[in-house]
Amino acid sequence: MAEFDYDLFVIGAGSGGVRAARVSAAHGARVAIAEEFRVGGTCVIRGCVPKKLLVYGAHFAEDLKDARRFGWNVPDCDFDWATLRDNVLSEVDRLNGAYTTTLESHKVEIIHQRATVAGANAVRLADGRTVTARIILVATGARPAVPGCPGHELGITSNEVFHLDALPKRVLIAGAGYIANEFAGIFNEFGSKVTLINRTDVILRGYDAAIRDRLLQISTAKGIEFRFHAEFRGITKGDDGSLTVEMTNHDPITVDRVLFATGRVPNTEGLGLEGAGVELDDKGAVKVDADSRSSCPSIYAVGDVTNRIQLTPVAIREGQAFADTMFGDKPWRVDYDNVPSAVFSHPPMAGVGLTESQARQQLGSVKVYQSDFRAMKNVLANRNERALYKMVCDGVTDRVVGLHMIGPDAPEILQAAAIAVKAGLTKADFDQTVALHPSMAEELVLMR
Ligand code: NDP
Repeated sequence: MAEFDYDLFVIGAGSGGVRAARVSAAHGARVAIAEEFRVGGTCVIRGCVPKKLLVYGAHFAEDLKDARRFGWNVPDCDFDWATLRDNVLSEVDRLNGAYTTTLESHKVEIIHQRATVAGANAVRLADGRTVTARIILVATGARPAVPGCPGHELGITSNEVFHLDALPKRVLIAGAGYIANEFAGIFNEFGSKVTLINRTDVILRGYDAAIRDRLLQISTAKGIEFRFHAEFRGITKGDDGSLTVEMTNHDPITVDRVLFATGRVPNTEGLGLEGAGVELDDKGAVKVDADSRSSCPSIYAVGDVTNRIQLTPVAIREGQAFADTMFGDKPWRVDYDNVPSAVFSHPPMAGVGLTESQARQQLGSVKVYQSDFRAMKNVLANRNERALYKMVCDGVTDRVVGLHMIGPDAPEILQAAAIAVKAGLTKADFDQTVALHPSMAEELVLMR
């Protein structure tokens, strides 16, 4: 008889949990995974994947307009939200099925119910059963944070936005981070009047200032209204269903929908972690060491619930490193340096490494190269929208320590360039690479 029911019990079947479960099982572990909602987690079910599909859908608004300048006789088109919404949701269903099949084919037992920690090696299921495991992995992710103002329940979050019955004519988005700017772009392209409000005057904190400023300028020119130093005071509903939002420093505004995009909080509430001796930080995230081990030696955590870097590929790596280390006899740790990231705004932006201001704080000497240009497609389309690429170098070693971009396909270009930054290449290495002409990416090897 085995000492425990399972070698590994994973709570949460999102990006990190699924990877950890599948790989641990492939390494020979007896694995169960519990999921109270849908296998796939935030990224697949109500995050990155459906969002990116909406971004593609939204961008047709510009493409169809620009096509006329390229000789296409485009009749007046209209957009049907329900068609896109339903097609996106059926793609989500397909991926949900694929994730489930992957787990099943690796002999991972999927338990479709809520699970909580009942001790260092015990998990309690919603149906009342208690099971045991040598190792418990908490991969419960995070959920949208909603400010506690009066009427906040009248707003929606990124959980609900993919299911809207109809496109709002007027939408107010609270927050100025990833989700706010991505959905501001999506709704604006679909023709909604978008107002974005934030408590400070900084959008996308953490990105390079010049790139952020360019997004702000382009978004404003496209018709998105920004209101800064605006803190939520409350929402009231009118007889016609409209929502009036009160905020500090600005007049109230009446809209059809309010979307909260004000950060995400780790899902640890009611999980029984404290009872098992698992320490949480002041935001409720599980505190872990470099091996994702919590303060309870048999309980580990990966992904957003640890609030390290809230990005899917990071959670996946953490899950993989955990599985290889614990069950594959191949110990390794995630390297958090030079993690690339992108914002799928219109146009998108992307960055890797140090921003100019971070480099100036951390390095003695810094050299910055810049290319501020209009993509040739935008020139012919008469689209007055300039791209901006920035390369931040260590002034002493010439090493490229940061790359930051905004412009068409910036995330696609940056992913490849991030390899060079991760590899520690220098500005001279970029310069020695022959340009691929004509492309936007060639600006990376032509910066002066
Ligand atoms: P972000 O952390 O990106 O932005 C949060 C925004 O909300 C900021 O503008 C912040 O203002 C504001 N804010 C924070 N707390 C409050 C509060 N209590 N009251 C009012 N405003 C507040 O969060 P998101 O919700 O946009 O996204 C969550 C996370 O999900 C991101 O951090 C990212 O890691 C991930 N994500 C990644 C995506 C991608 O990779 N493309 C896409 C979507 C999400 P201020 O900065 O001024 O303090």
